Amino acid sequence: MTDPVFPIIFDGHNDVLSKLYRQGGLSVSESFVTGRSGAIDLPRAKAGGLGGGFFAVYVPSPSNLESKMAAMAKPSYDLPLPEQIDWEDAFPVVMAQAAILFDLEKRGGLKVCRSVRELRATLAAGQIAAIFHMEGAEAIDPDLHTIDVLYQAGLRSLGPVWSRPTIFGHGVPFRYPSGPDTGDGLTDHGIRLVRHCDELGIMVDLSHLNEAGFWDVARHSTKPLVATHSNAHAICPHSRNLTDKQLAAIRESDGMVGVNFAVAFLRDDGRMLADVPIEQMLKHFDYLITHLGEDRVGLGSDYDGAVVPEVLTSCSALPKLRIAMAEHGYDDALMAKLCHGNWLRVLEKTWGE
Ligand SMILES: [Zn+2]
Repeated sequence: MTDPVFPIIFDGHNDVLSKLYRQGGLSVSESFVTGRSGAIDLPRAKAGGLGGGFFAVYVPSPSNLESKMAAMAKPSYDLPLPEQIDWEDAFPVVMAQAAILFDLEKRGGLKVCRSVRELRATLAAGQIAAIFHMEGAEAIDPDLHTIDVLYQAGLRSLGPVWSRPTIFGHGVPFRYPSGPDTGDGLTDHGIRLVRHCDELGIMVDLSHLNEAGFWDVARHSTKPLVATHSNAHAICPHSRNLTDKQLAAIRESDGMVGVNFAVAFLRDDGRMLADVPIEQMLKHFDYLITHLGEDRVGLGSDYDGAVVPEVLTSCSALPKLRIAMAEHGYDDALMAKLCHGNWLRVLEKTWGE
């Protein structure tokens, strides 16, 4: 496909590492380089103009994924939060997924970037630029020793919770329709964790936090507020999406939001059904641009972790999204910001260079 507007895409969230982990770990990691049946691999990234993004390590809950998807296809749902996972159980899983990330780097599939300078150079060289991100802090101990070691290994972004409790805070359940105000916020450990991340230069991700946790981060962090993969609650009133009040705080802090491709967070009706036109995504882009400004919106695909619109099932289809955005009236300067520039801007403010 020819792509008249071709700013490289840097993306706020993917789950390819946990997907590879579940499929066999290091024994299948070469498939990322040669091609695999999933949303992101090297050949598809090249075809779609995906330059890189946040690569999440994530400890799966032992829940039945199919029954969760079936429940979320209904007109309304309220999935219970999965049980807390202990440090002893989470830590080896995080190590195994981080090992996959570094194996992908060794095989030439990507480069793990630890600064914005490195991100820019890697994108310019046409290599996949990866940020080591952790979705849910189950593998962090209460004394925070683990995070110091993970930082040295390259960790630069952390969500204190996925949608389940940790010793640091409470996640938001998958619930529609629902606001994000679903329970208690950060614990004392969580507040210390946020401050420690600020000191180290690890970005704190607000996606999956409930509203009380969101405001706790807003209170205790001095950095821009960032939700890597969330959408507008005014369009899709899902518990995972951001209210106008939250968007105002993100704008005020000069942070940003990555538009999530997960259909349950895109559709007005919140259903996990894939027949979603790109126009529905443009509604979220327009809304977020109106409420956050042109400098505070990007992409946060959730590729390899969610049901996405059937027109965009893998990153090789990203040119379709770019063409639709350009035809919708986003000019070249705005396209460059939405596709990658805003992520680099916010990371620079969060990490320094
Ligand atoms: Zn997520």
